[in-house]
Amino acid sequence: MSSSLTAAQEKIIKAELLDLLANLREDVGHELHDQQGERVHQAMKEAHDMGDEASADLESTINLVNMSRHLHEIKECQEALQRLTNGEYGLCVGCGEEIELNRLKANPVSSRCLSCQSKEEQQHPDVHHASL
Ligand SMILES: [Zn+2]
Repeated sequence: MSSSLTAAQEKIIKAELLDLLANLREDVGHELHDQQGERVHQAMKEAHDMGDEASADLESTINLVNMSRHLHEIKECQEALQRLTNGEYGLCVGCGEEIELNRLKANPVSSRCLSCQSKEEQQHPDVHHASL
């Protein structure tokens, strides 16, 4: 079972994903290596140890949020590439139906069709709309 994407479309999407992944890794690299890096690392460790993110100062918290968002996006990219490799790309992980092509073009890491995504967001509003 595979999606109706043509080989050419898959190739374009794969290139986009690899590009996105490279950019994200670069961003995270900068975030880790810039002058804040050590503080962010420390703040993350402390926040983790104490279970209290409020202990980190605001600046570090913002960097942390950026970095964890980027790490999340990297994971999504890797999963999308994995699905491409497995021939599962473009199929909704929720219902198995094909994801709308326009949706994939707009967001190549999409793993759910529009209706499953809406359901997911209704069930877990915090996951997709982090409050900040
Ligand atoms: Zn679905």
